[in-house]
Amino acid sequence: MKSLLISVCGIFLFSAAAAQDIYIHAGKLVDTKNGKVLAEKTIVISNKRIKSVENGYIQPRNSADSLIDLKNMTVLPGLTDMHVHLESETNPNKYLERYTNEPADDAFNSVGFAKTTLMAGFTSVRELGGSGVNISLRNAINKGKVPGPRIFTAGKSIATTGGHADPTSGMRKSLMGNPGPADGVVNGPDEARKAVRQQYKNGADLIKITATGGVLSVAKSSSNPQFTIEEIQMITQTAADYGFHVAAHAHGDEGMQRAIKGGVKTIEHGTLMSEETMDLMKKHNTYLVPTITAGKEVTEKSEIENYYPELVVPKAREIGPKIQDMFGRAYKRGVPIAFGTDAGVFEHGKNAKEFGFMVEAGMPAMEAIQSATITPAIILNMETESGQIAKGFFADIIAVQEDPTQNIKTMEEVVFVMKEGKVYKN
Ligand SMILES: [Zn+2]
Repeated sequence: MKSLLISVCGIFLFSAAAAQDIYIHAGKLVDTKNGKVLAEKTIVISNKRIKSVENGYIQPRNSADSLIDLKNMTVLPGLTDMHVHLESETNPNKYLERYTNEPADDAFNSVGFAKTTLMAGFTSVRELGGSGVNISLRNAINKGKVPGPRIFTAGKSIATTGGHADPTSGMRKSLMGNPGPADGVVNGPDEARKAVRQQYKNGADLIKITATGGVLSVAKSSSNPQFTIEEIQMITQTAADYGFHVAAHAHGDEGMQRAIKGGVKTIEHGTLMSEETMDLMKKHNTYLVPTITAGKEVTEKSEIENYYPELVVPKAREIGPKIQDMFGRAYKRGVPIAFGTDAGVFEHGKNAKEFGFMVEAGMPAMEAIQSATITPAIILNMETESGQIAKGFFADIIAVQEDPTQNIKTMEEVVFVMKEGKVYKN
């Protein structure tokens, strides 16, 4: 009898709370779908979602409703960064942390990084690989235990032996062991299939592969191909069985081509992309996730003595400065582009610097904003829920002080953050 009463009360309380709508008066509102900046709108929010968007400033209809005044602000849908690493952040001891950090250390750190990312206006992220702590982080955020962006995670990146994201690359032999598919290291299509299924079992939402060498791994090449096309095809086909898309880290052109032909959805970095490969991206509707910010930050840090291991420094100096120029050429050639930064490789919360670099390289500000709203929603199958301020969408809403189509730098100072109807910053 007692439990029945509680549940009846629970329903009553829930329905009473549902009647309290939030009204936002938006001085300017970025319509990401049509690429326009609108003036004087009211957004009505009920629970987690947008109930309506109305012309002019409408006053709350019920006494229990609340009003948020953003009349002096420009309001946008919450942003999505398609390439972050929330388990860690660059620091001079990063390489030592492989030996010293417990998973619990990474977990506690990740809570802070997730919050910082949300406060910077990023209400969704694609987490492209860590140890797997990112899966627990996603779950904790979804349950409301800690604040953070909505996470779509690859769990652990899949690599080949000695490749970028082989967790024991660069160690002495007695520590190397023999990591296999369960650790995200594969050789041959059978192991590749198993590694995808393992990520599904672990709770990932998508798959990340390291199609070429990388900058920050302790290995010689930054850009050599590291998978066969048969391995990549097996990964994308198996991933499709689970409704996963595949993201491919790639700096070198040959590895990039194999990844595109093998069916990946996004190319991360894309540094040494040839014009032929750009055309291939267009043909296969493969998205470039540029990470210009990471390129610039890594170049800067490579000048600090002993910040990176000896083997990493020349790679950082070679690859880092080339990304922005490639991005400008890829944009002009019509390559599909989705916003992503590689935050974690640099300090979390600086994600919005990428907008300025994209605009500097020739992309109009509105398109840069669309690449962080509309486009990620398409890739993440969130087209009817995320990336727009429109009826039925999640109430993921941010505000900046100026019109970003006039001054893109304003994106770096987000003054208001709401995720799923809850205000985190005002
Ligand atoms: Zn990355």
